[in-house]
Amino acid sequence: MNREKLEKLGLNLPLFPTTSVGSFPKPDYLAKARGEFNKGKITAQQLEDLERKATSFWIEKQEELGVDVLVDGEMYRGDMVAYFAERLPGFTNGGLVRSYGNRYYHKPMITGEVKWTDPITVAWWKYAQGLTKKPVKGMLTGAYTVMDWSFNEHYPDRKATCLALAGVIRKEVEALIAAGCKIIQIDEPALSVRPEELPIAIEAMQRTTEGLSAYFITHACYGAFEYIYPDMLKLAVDNFDLEMSNSGLDLLELFRRHPFTKDISFGVVDVHSHVLEDAGTVRQRIEQALTLLPPERVWVDPDCGLKTRTVDEALAKMRVVVEAARSCRGQAVATQPA
Ligand SMILES: [Zn+2]
Repeated sequence: MNREKLEKLGLNLPLFPTTSVGSFPKPDYLAKARGEFNKGKITAQQLEDLERKATSFWIEKQEELGVDVLVDGEMYRGDMVAYFAERLPGFTNGGLVRSYGNRYYHKPMITGEVKWTDPITVAWWKYAQGLTKKPVKGMLTGAYTVMDWSFNEHYPDRKATCLALAGVIRKEVEALIAAGCKIIQIDEPALSVRPEELPIAIEAMQRTTEGLSAYFITHACYGAFEYIYPDMLKLAVDNFDLEMSNSGLDLLELFRRHPFTKDISFGVVDVHSHVLEDAGTVRQRIEQALTLLPPERVWVDPDCGLKTRTVDEALAKMRVVVEAARSCRGQAVATQPA
């Protein structure tokens, strides 16, 4: 693990640190309140009060479960790109786009120079971090994914758009660090959609994190990693948070051919399934990871955000993650040479 960097940042994490990818399900009262807010029935302040209540619920639950690196649960977010686009000058609310059959959403549109004027996530991060002594991750969406999920009418091409966004997201990273945030996750779920553009994503991440003092994680999922591995390891982050379990750990085959050289947050439970994995299955997944990865480089978490599960399912999945990591910790310590 990039233990040296973590220690320099004052973070002493156990072997197989447990975390989660970012989103947790919104409790019923919050889902209902968001609907009422959209109809003008409650005020922004009333909605925010409930978002705080839900954030505090999830911090408390993660502490009870014994998770090592916490998230705020994204109670205030809808879409991971629109959330940022709505708060950055240069974006306008784009047209309706069809996704997943009959679901429509507003795809953000870039119509001018994108600028960062004020912190977007810092107040939520501070609120969540104020509720716990455990480290809370800062959570951002990466420049490549924001570019890929938006229309662009301003910049000459996809690369120029992506690099401009990287400069803007870097400002948010700097604001999080200035507030005291030490672990920052920059999600890039679109990383593998156009393998020929990987160099653009790499340059953008470099521009986002270079020379900044934090431990950086990137999350990618549902990707065609076989087209971008091992080159994706050039992304300027310390840790890749990857969906492993949904695909039956088949990424391990890629790691076998070319060693994985960074820290990894290894997805050990499938977030798309209601079925709760038993502790034995999760342990087995960690053990399979350890056949190729050094134990000090492995973090353990669910495959992706848990927002589509029920509150009880999400809690149960997190519980099994923490229990499996703990039992592997005991074993790893026991088998270390005297
Ligand atoms: Zn994901």
